[in-house]
Amino acid sequence: MALDGDIDRILFTEEQISKRVSELASLISDDFAATADSPSPPVVIGVATGAFLFLADLVRKVKVPLYVDFIRAESYGCGTKSNGAPRISLALKVDVQDKHVIVVEDIVDTGNTLASLISLLKSKGASSISVCTLLDKPARRKVDFQLVGEGKFYCGFECPDHFVVGYGLDFAELYRNLPYVGVLKPEIYK
Ligand code: 5GP
Repeated sequence: MALDGDIDRILFTEEQISKRVSELASLISDDFAATADSPSPPVVIGVATGAFLFLADLVRKVKVPLYVDFIRAESYGCGTKSNGAPRISLALKVDVQDKHVIVVEDIVDTGNTLASLISLLKSKGASSISVCTLLDKPARRKVDFQLVGEGKFYCGFECPDHFVVGYGLDFAELYRNLPYVGVLKPEIYK
């Protein structure tokens, strides 16, 4: 089965992603430097499965102690359109009560997933909630999400309104292992 052959065009190359991930990690390291000596390091929560590569590359470059955990959120099933009501399984191992949380997402589209996630994490007592997303599609936003406390929004790249795959992002659970982000040929999912 071809992987590269199903890609219409590459939007963000492996090199561009790596450079941007380093920049984001350095921003986060600076912003959370004050927590380095605190008894309560920030909790980085990856939204599985899409954020697994981004999170792995990002945390390796962050220079402050941190916890890592994952939650699972699903809104697409096997299609390319969000169904608006993400299923979230919040089986966290790390207690976020009174901790700074950084949610790591692959892509923010309608904003539904983030809005639900933030309200769940807020209800668990997080003292601040930041979001670090690899991609943002602001043109598709339907729901506004509010960061919590001193929370910040970190974004890798603004993404045009196309269905993209690679670097963790899938179509029907495939293409996650492409090292770049590209636009999937529409005939693959039509
Ligand atoms: P939202 O709840 O913001 O509409 O959707 C967020 C989720 O939808 C993302 O975490 C991601 O799983 C999925 N998603 C949104 N746009 C795309 C896209 O272009 N490609 C892929 N593969 N997933 C997307």
